Amino acid sequence: MSIAFRKELRDLKPYVPGKPIESVMKEFGIKNVIKLASNENPLGFSEKVKEILMKSLDNLALYPDGNATNLKEALSEKLDIDVDNILPSSGADEMIDLIAKTVISPGDEAITADITFPRYISTTKMMGGTPVVVPLKNFTFDLNGILNNITNRTKLIWICNPNNPTGTIVTEKELMDFFEKVPENILIVYDEAYREYVTRDDYPKNSIEFVKKYPNILVMRTFSKAYGLAGLRVAYAIGSKKIIENINKVRGPFNVNSLAQIAAIAALKDDEFLERIYNLN
Ligand SMILES: *Cc1c(COP(=O)(O)O)cnc(C)c1O
Repeated sequence: MSIAFRKELRDLKPYVPGKPIESVMKEFGIKNVIKLASNENPLGFSEKVKEILMKSLDNLALYPDGNATNLKEALSEKLDIDVDNILPSSGADEMIDLIAKTVISPGDEAITADITFPRYISTTKMMGGTPVVVPLKNFTFDLNGILNNITNRTKLIWICNPNNPTGTIVTEKELMDFFEKVPENILIVYDEAYREYVTRDDYPKNSIEFVKKYPNILVMRTFSKAYGLAGLRVAYAIGSKKIIENINKVRGPFNVNSLAQIAAIAALKDDEFLERIYNLN
């Protein structure tokens, strides 16, 4: 007799990340290695974040604040939205997981693009859901194609804007038309991991307005890319109190570590660093 692992796992494979720099150095016997596999920040992270982290190393015996109170308050002030609409996570990766756990039951459908961030599809499958994959059109999310694929089993729509890995965007106007047409019982996850890099005027500048207007939209942002804090694992979602309340039920009690919380607060204050990143890119 062998262990009966969940059948949902049968055709899933572990995620294979880009190799760490040290492994590549060893494997090929080379010294200068630049890692491009995971879109990490070539300029590292803010000096101000480093300073506060160095001063915070004495407090690691205690569990982190499970409510991430200070981080939520800092975000609330910066984004002009209530703390109850905000939920920090250990990276957007964790949030994607939590979202699937919150809404997907076996047999439910989740729609996304064919070439986009792969975790949308794997977490959907993990929960016994069926990914419905709509091909990109001109390397871009095909919002009309997604609308045409909505059925009475659709629970979730994953949108990545700008899309990883194609770097294309859907415009604010296109999104607003789309949101109007999606039934309110379907959760739309709007992942803007690369929002800080976008220069185009027709890209949505303030997606918080989406959340204020529609109760079924969850915006995801991360400190891993422009802020350069991928190693600490910190991100957050913004959505209606009802969505946040339910994701909170499946979240681990101390999901965002103490240093990540402190670093994220300091990172939010350092606009100068972000500007340098933006200019370099
Ligand atoms: C990098 C990335 C994530 C994951 O970010 P973390 O916060 O580091 O987990 C999520 N979505 C997209 C589109 C990404 O490129």
